[in-house]
Amino acid sequence: MAENQNSSIMEKVISLSKQRGFVFQSSEIYGGLKSAYDYGPLGVELKRNIMNEWWRSMVHEREDVIGIDASIIMHSNVWQASGHLSGFSDPLVDCLISNERFRADKAPAPLPGDTLPINCKDKGQAKVYQAAIQKQFNIELKRDGKTLHGLKVIDDFNFGFFPEKEDKPTDIFPYRGYVSPTFGSPFLSDERKFNLMFRSQIGPVDVLGDITSYVEKNQNLDNQELRKGIEDIVSSSAVYLRPETAQAMFVQFLNCQQSMSMKIPFGIAQMGKSFRNEITVEHFIFRSCEFEQMEMEYFVEPGSQKKWLEYWRDVRMEWWKSFANCPEKFRYRTHEKDELAHYAEACYDIEYEYPWGFDELEGVASRTDYDLKKHAEHSGVKLSYFDQQKDDPQTGKNGWRYTPFVIEPAAGATRGLLVYLLDAYHEETVPDADGNKSSRVVMKLHPRLAPIKVAVLPLVKKDGLPEIAREMVSSFFKAGINARYDEQHSIGKRYRRHDEAGTPYCITIDGQTREDGTVTIRNRDTMEQERIAQNESLHIIQKRLMET
Ligand code: ATP
Repeated sequence: MAENQNSSIMEKVISLSKQRGFVFQSSEIYGGLKSAYDYGPLGVELKRNIMNEWWRSMVHEREDVIGIDASIIMHSNVWQASGHLSGFSDPLVDCLISNERFRADKAPAPLPGDTLPINCKDKGQAKVYQAAIQKQFNIELKRDGKTLHGLKVIDDFNFGFFPEKEDKPTDIFPYRGYVSPTFGSPFLSDERKFNLMFRSQIGPVDVLGDITSYVEKNQNLDNQELRKGIEDIVSSSAVYLRPETAQAMFVQFLNCQQSMSMKIPFGIAQMGKSFRNEITVEHFIFRSCEFEQMEMEYFVEPGSQKKWLEYWRDVRMEWWKSFANCPEKFRYRTHEKDELAHYAEACYDIEYEYPWGFDELEGVASRTDYDLKKHAEHSGVKLSYFDQQKDDPQTGKNGWRYTPFVIEPAAGATRGLLVYLLDAYHEETVPDADGNKSSRVVMKLHPRLAPIKVAVLPLVKKDGLPEIAREMVSSFFKAGINARYDEQHSIGKRYRRHDEAGTPYCITIDGQTREDGTVTIRNRDTMEQERIAQNESLHIIQKRLMET
């Protein structure tokens, strides 16, 4: 699909999300907080449905997986042990021309021989950047409209300025291997590390007061010494918002295993909020600072991890596809050795083809015995498992005590919501009530994910029709099916509104209902309508939802 068509789909989904109440910008009336989103009346239902489906398939339907719901704030030693305090950081770089700050590991990477056009947003900006480059680097790039030309990658370590018609560079600069994502600028600062965890303080401490008196008493110290002292004061009462849900499953491994008498292999699952102070928040809810995850730690015998990694990769892939209109837009990608996290020995990303290309939706990682061993080391508590049935491979004696290896399928619930919004969005040309061509937007959400399963619409607001409709809605609620009574606007407009909301079934109550006890049921995707007995509609909807 053409790039502008793709970006317009993203814009359409963002706009429909706001109009229909799926996703709103956080704090919008104050100008909005770029890195956070609120899930509206339909969004909250969709998100819960995705997460409930995940819980059902990962916990309820499996004898080998149990669930927990741990606190977001944990002991800060947890993050020390897991490596997040030292290692959970992104390489950050600033563009020296535009001041754009971005993640080096996500930046475009032109290869030796590639030209490096600097793409500005308009002519005015191009003139400003042209002058800035001339001033800072003493070269005059050629401006063509809003693009600056003349730079080219020479090899892995250098790029050069090639004046027009010259095939040799007049000036050579160090090349980092990537350029800034927005403008394509290769003029970049050094990489710096930045911790992604949100820090706060716990307890009745006056950190600012302690820092003030420390600075007053230590005016002879240089900047670095002062910074170290302040860091120590802050750290003594610091707590962190969890950047992943996973660690609680390691920390509560023994409690969970013993309380439920679990035998290896078994898993502990959790879903909920995680927080990362992301430098680049991007693509709507794809990457935000507050998001929801659905993670499971599956504890296996050492040596069996490869088999289980492939097993979970396939199970998770099938789960995502099972709710999608376009399963061919999902694929998995094997991590290269140099992109593996510090704890992982192998990893697959389940990717989706977003409007900007394939990108991560879920990671399925083989985390070795790293986390349990680290927590055992830092806490002094033995986090191991004793298998009475097996012989110890080292001694040959009956009974084997070992630290389990871990396979982790870690999915983004909010990222999944974006995937299903994009997958559901359809524009169609359909005949209107008079048989003329008209266009409709329909969100073909899987019925089990759809926020509202059935809308009950009285044709008119009189003659006892609203009463019949409300009674039906309440019978749906009693059966645990989310239904909605809707009497606003013409029936045609109501159908279109529910097409955009993704409601799979609309039931219309009309004059005939009072005469013969029948109602009309309309299918969102086919727009077919059929007359059914009113007293069978609950059973029919239940059956259709079960069959999907
Ligand atoms: P990325 O490479 O996209 O930054 P990651 O590899 O750091 O993601 P994990 O730590 O493996 O992500 O987290 C598991 C899942 O949580 C991801 O696959 C993604 O779906 C989701 N996720 C991670 N960070 C964010 C975020 N900032 N916003 C929304 N979802 C996120």
